Amino acid sequence: MTALPSGPFSLWIKHDGGGRGTTGRGPTFASMDTLVQLEKVTKRYDSSGPGSAAPPAVDNVSMRIGYGEAVAIMGPSGSGKSTLLNLIAGLDRPSAGTVTVAGQRIDRLSETALARFRARHVGIIFQFFNLLDDLTVEDNVLLPAQLAGASRRQARARAGELLERMGIGEHRDHYPARLSGGQRQRVAIARALVNAPELLLADEPTGALDSASGREIGDLLRELNRGGQTLVLVTHDPVLAERYAARTVRIVDGLVAGAAAGVPA
Ligand code: ADP
Ligand code: MG
Repeated sequence: MTALPSGPFSLWIKHDGGGRGTTGRGPTFASMDTLVQLEKVTKRYDSSGPGSAAPPAVDNVSMRIGYGEAVAIMGPSGSGKSTLLNLIAGLDRPSAGTVTVAGQRIDRLSETALARFRARHVGIIFQFFNLLDDLTVEDNVLLPAQLAGASRRQARARAGELLERMGIGEHRDHYPARLSGGQRQRVAIARALVNAPELLLADEPTGALDSASGREIGDLLRELNRGGQTLVLVTHDPVLAERYAARTVRIVDGLVAGAAAGVPA
């Protein structure tokens, strides 16, 4: 089942011009307004210890991602892809440099502010789905909406509509253990989108799937991007990157290779 139910995915996306002082009216997803900006970002893990010879996981990276873009981050295992994604997501903080997402300097937010920021602006999906096995599909999806303050009624309506759009509406009352990998990843995507984040981040989203399911998830992500959803996809699969992202950023040993990072010289 590769076909998506047709419909305006962009209905689910906030377009506020990235807090750049625009009026916030009108769709801006076709423009190249900056959604993500990294300036000279370096990440060293504490566990590498003071004076350790371990190189930084991310090393002086500058890049920008515009609203509506689909960007693939590619590189070998251990090259810093997940670290980079976690810095963009506000799940981790840089050791140096600045991270600006949707007009906010997230590297200097307090933990509480950062959690609130993530809930509103960022959706993330992972290789192993990270669903809560004790909750039904629907409850998995509506949990972030309730945490963000939506009423259960509002959240259920939104979860139901997203699950329909992901093609798994009939599984809303089931538990994740009953679903295939591809179906679980669809649940994870619905959960990531429930608060209409500007940014959808995906860390090896097809890494645990067979190739047919992986392709369906890729198609789904591409449809979401065509509807205006900004997408950053970490993968080491060149087929996925080429087929589903308009731009590829290559990272090797924490360094961005070439001029593909979208930072004008
Ligand atoms: P990738 O996602 O490209 O495989 P990662 O970002 O996970 O790469 O890792 C980049 C480097 O940082 C690797 O050398 C890895 O061992 C190291 N690293 C990742 N996470 C941690 C951590 N929590 N503590 C210490 N080192 C880490
Ligand atoms: Mg990784």
